[in-house]
Amino acid sequence: MNIHEYQAKEILDKYGVPTPRAEVASTATEAKDIASRIGGRVVVKAQVHAGGRGKAGGVKLVDTPEQAQKEAGALLGTRLVTKQTGVAGVPVEKVMIAETLDIKDELYLSIVIDGDIGAPVVMASTEGGMDIEEVAENAPEKIFRVAGDPLIGLTTYHARDIALALGVPAEALRATTKLITDLYRVFTDNDCSLVEINPLVVTEDNRVVALDAKITLEDDALFRHPDLARLRDGNQQDPLERRADAADLSYVKLDGGRVGCMVNGAGLAMATMDITKTAGADPANFLDIGGSADQERIEEAFKIIMDDEDVEIILVNLFAGIARADIVAQGIVAAAKETNAQLPMVVAMRGTNAEEGARILGESGLNITAAPDLAGAAEALKHKLLELGGAN
Ligand code: GDP
Ligand code: MN
Repeated sequence: MNIHEYQAKEILDKYGVPTPRAEVASTATEAKDIASRIGGRVVVKAQVHAGGRGKAGGVKLVDTPEQAQKEAGALLGTRLVTKQTGVAGVPVEKVMIAETLDIKDELYLSIVIDGDIGAPVVMASTEGGMDIEEVAENAPEKIFRVAGDPLIGLTTYHARDIALALGVPAEALRATTKLITDLYRVFTDNDCSLVEINPLVVTEDNRVVALDAKITLEDDALFRHPDLARLRDGNQQDPLERRADAADLSYVKLDGGRVGCMVNGAGLAMATMDITKTAGADPANFLDIGGSADQERIEEAFKIIMDDEDVEIILVNLFAGIARADIVAQGIVAAAKETNAQLPMVVAMRGTNAEEGARILGESGLNITAAPDLAGAAEALKHKLLELGGAN
């Protein structure tokens, strides 16, 4: 789960990580009042779940409270499109008003889970403020990595190594070492999957401050942090993803395809991708119904797939275990009837009650082709795509 910059900043503040003085506003007038309190010269920052705001016009430096009011008014209520959002952008419902700093140097600092070594890894670079992906691509030697120990944490000497690699001024070395140690505690205490400070700045008076903060929380650990779970902002999410989250389904949107795929399990999703490609088409999405689906969830899953405007045909590929095929079939039929869906469907179901499931689908009067296996599903899909007007 992503949270906003101003929420991430509150967490950093609690752990003693230096951040610019800032407050969040929902109206232009509030923005003006905050700017007056801070002292006039401020930066107005759109609060959205996406990076790249600076280049997209979502970060504005101003000199007076009146200008802050004007910039806030111009941002609030609009949708910001950055290179990390889709073309539709994300709504700006809040702006953060922060004191400006005199920046001497922009650095990069982040912590992520490295799945290969099974531990958090701190990544640091002197090339802050820009796209770290670009640095990783063109100058990977400029990214310094240190793994923490899952049991011991990050030792002070490791933190100091990182601070040295960042090349901070000698008088800021101790504070930077502490900042890195504190940030590591933010990461582990809150079950984060990402903490990213880009840029971490060195000010003209040699202070080291987290100027931007991005925190992603691990969904599977949110139950341990009810306070953090409350920070969810569904308005920043794609509406279909949001519905899937609410129904505890896992939905992945893919660009450019036209086959909606309902599967159970990630492995089957991969196989389904292959079938779709074999049939000469691309998936528009994947909806994983998981293992313990009841009829209501299947119905919602089916409706989510259908509400994806790119979907022209639906491929259901299930291995029925705990999710019984007859229940799934009933869910599909109920949802299709309720929504008056006319979309063609190819269904391959094996496992528990597969025959009963096939019978329910067959007798439904819907436009469904039942396939006995993966190869059959690929054949049937190809056929239906030809009927629809060729492969894409
Ligand atoms: P992002 O583009 O979404 O990552 O937003 P950031 O918060 O990282 O801001 C983008 C850029 O704006 C930073 O890299 C800075 O160069 C600049 N910026 C942000 N706040 C300040 C500030 O207080 N003073 C100055 N001089 N520049 C700032
Ligand atoms: Mn940034």
